[in-house]
Amino acid sequence: MYDVIIIGKGPAGCSAALYTIRANLKTLMIGMDESVLRKAAMIENYYGLAEPVSGQSLLEIGEQQISKLGGEMLTAEVFGIEWMDTFEVITSNGNYQAKTVLIATGQPQKQMKIENIITYEGKGISYCTTCDGFFYKNRKVGVVGNKDFAVHEASSLQNFSTDVTLYTNGLQLDISAENTEVVKAFHVNDKKIARFEGNASLETIVFADDSTETVAGLFIANESASSVDFAKKLGVMTVGNDITVDPTQQTNLPGLYAAGDCTGGFKQISTAVGQGAMAARSMIAFVKKMR
Ligand SMILES: Cc1cc2nc3c(=O)[nH]c(=O)nc-3n(C[C@H](O)[C@H](O)[C@H](O)COP(=O)(O)OP(=O)(O)OC[C@H]3O[C@@H](n4cnc5c(N)ncnc54)[C@H](O)[C@@H]3O)c2cc1C
Repeated sequence: MYDVIIIGKGPAGCSAALYTIRANLKTLMIGMDESVLRKAAMIENYYGLAEPVSGQSLLEIGEQQISKLGGEMLTAEVFGIEWMDTFEVITSNGNYQAKTVLIATGQPQKQMKIENIITYEGKGISYCTTCDGFFYKNRKVGVVGNKDFAVHEASSLQNFSTDVTLYTNGLQLDISAENTEVVKAFHVNDKKIARFEGNASLETIVFADDSTETVAGLFIANESASSVDFAKKLGVMTVGNDITVDPTQQTNLPGLYAAGDCTGGFKQISTAVGQGAMAARSMIAFVKKMR
């Protein structure tokens, strides 16, 4: 059991790790290599830089700092966080338990844009297989997405139904080698989705070629799991795509913190680093209280 798991290897996550590792908390930082900072060619508005540096360099220096302090880092995709007194973080490389978790996964990717998707949210369209999968026991269900996250969600639906379809919405499957076998358990439909139809709840998917398919429930798992996906599964408060935190960076779920671009506001390195530090301070106090 870790004291702290930090999800995200960007400025917010690295900043938090510096504090929790130095406070002797057993810390695991899990992240993919996809910080938006990689896209920044030149940074010159961050404190302490004698010369401008690229975002890529700053990220590498951050990770080196964590390594030098003996921090544990795992490159993996996080699919979900579960909570039952303590936290379990579900990743592409195993599951890990912790007393506290920091979400520092940056700005969520763009939401899937399909005509009238909002009409059926909560009425057949869901973002949480753990929360809503049971409602579709032994019925035809689907997952919209073309990556490992979608395969993970489809796999978890197999607990409830044997009739699971992966709708790639016109895209090619883009999954890891390990999942090429897993995906064979599902139907795969690669047509572009035009819109949805139904009465009180979702009944039919209408594709761009005017063909249709009936489905009882549909789960959206676009790209990688984002802070919004984690929040929805845990019942954590959000405003739009931003996780709501108190001044100590804690969410409404005790022990769960968020920092950086995923909390909205002024999306800058200095803000992410500051919020990461504040979250770490709160997590250190939280773990000490638990002991
Ligand atoms: C082109 C560009 C230029 C910029 N220039 C500047 C600048 O000059 N100055 C400045 O102050 N700011 C700049 N910014 C903003 C700055 O990059 C962000 O504010 C900062 O990176 C936010 O840090 P973060 O840690 O919150 O998120 P990020 O840096 O986005 O890090 C998020 C981390 O979470 C990981 N992650 C996400 N989802 C998952 C998942 N499901 N599983 C595992 N890991 C996951 C990512 O791989 C990444 O490691 C720029 C941004 C862009 C796009």
